[in-house]
Amino acid sequence: MTKIKEKFIVICHSTSQMLSADRELKLNSIETELVPTPAEFGDICSTSIAIEAESIIYLEELLNAKKIEHKKIRQYKSQKIDGLLQRIKDSIISHEFKEIMDKIEKGDELKKEDIVFLLKIEGKSEKEVLLDVADQVRYKILGDSVEIRAAIEFSNYCKKSCKYCGIRKECTSTKRYRMSEDEILETTHNLHAMGINTVILQSGEDDFFTLEKLISIVKRIKKETKMKITLSLGEKSYEEYKALKEAGANNYLLKIETTNEEIFNFIHPNDSLEERIQCSKWLRELGYVNANGNIIGLPGQTDEDIADDILFFKKMGIHMIGIGPFVPAKDTPFEKYKTGSVEKTLNAIAITRIVCKNVYIPATTALASIDEDGQSKALRAGANTIMLISTPKKYRKNYKIYSDKNMVDLESAFKAVKDARRKLPSYLKVGGKTNE
Ligand code: SAH
Repeated sequence: MTKIKEKFIVICHSTSQMLSADRELKLNSIETELVPTPAEFGDICSTSIAIEAESIIYLEELLNAKKIEHKKIRQYKSQKIDGLLQRIKDSIISHEFKEIMDKIEKGDELKKEDIVFLLKIEGKSEKEVLLDVADQVRYKILGDSVEIRAAIEFSNYCKKSCKYCGIRKECTSTKRYRMSEDEILETTHNLHAMGINTVILQSGEDDFFTLEKLISIVKRIKKETKMKITLSLGEKSYEEYKALKEAGANNYLLKIETTNEEIFNFIHPNDSLEERIQCSKWLRELGYVNANGNIIGLPGQTDEDIADDILFFKKMGIHMIGIGPFVPAKDTPFEKYKTGSVEKTLNAIAITRIVCKNVYIPATTALASIDEDGQSKALRAGANTIMLISTPKKYRKNYKIYSDKNMVDLESAFKAVKDARRKLPSYLKVGGKTNE
């Protein structure tokens, strides 16, 4: 068996110091990897630098020379899952599957071929074990509370032509709408009154909302509610991301959708994979809590591609990973394509939890849209977050990125949390019943 090299992690005081340290180490040919700070050392949202043990001797010297302060250097111990094999000892599993489970228990990193193997499993017993293992990893790292966030889809105008998406500009059957700044603020205040502390502002790529308008909305939300703000507005320039961060945005959600370049180009007539990755790197550099994700079941996508996506999230140190099935949208070139598989999506969620560990994983709306119990299934397979659809009623039916989109509301979120025997977060001021 190959021995995993010993690693250390460097935890800095701030994102900018972390990035300066990372740059300095790379300039000196020291291999680094940015990782979400392990739960026992810090917050789920912060990022640390992982380096090989043999580089540690140069580290202090290099950082001191550049006057870059750092909080701690700790051995990056793999997280063991005690008792894991105890729980699965009576399951009927293959030798190869058992070997991968042994690796997970020891905290060894999974290789691409392990991930592909796990994505392909179909046997009931192995499937149950995989999801249960991811559930144990989630419990060990994050506990039982489910994050509840709320999305306001404030405009469905879009200048892009992504072939899967029901709000692409060619979709003439889509009734277009834009919410006013006051409407967005009013909706946000209602969410704030419910105790929700993160609002997600999502839209198509709509140039009507200029940087100036967006800054004004972000600033008002911050000033009036102090809520955390996630933006999901598509691709923008470095300067725009920077200005929005400075205005008060905390998180940014921009999904890669797939890391397979050929598929990426086929489904995104206006975009390039390289530019999309660049956007994600800028978001990381600017200190956003960086949210990403993919779609399962895209035309031509293989398990190898999905494994690459998961390893990409890990390598990029992504903090939040949204994994949803492809759902055909009316009036799009993919209208007649096959819906992504619930089972494959659950496997991908479980493996992502096992591989990326200390990250937010939402039980996605797309999953809820094709399976009534999709969200509670995801919560039992490693997910720990639910996003409510909080777009005002008169608009929400028109934000149909895919057909028959589920309108995840508080009631259905509570049900999913209860069905998964999990807890609502203590900050919610409504519907505490499932907390008992
Ligand atoms: N304009 C923003 C928001 C896009 S909609 C942006 O580009 O980031 C948010 C997400 O919905 C997309 O990232 C995509 O993953 C998902 N989505 C859109 N159409 C979909 C479909 N037909 N099936 C599954 N997911 C879809």
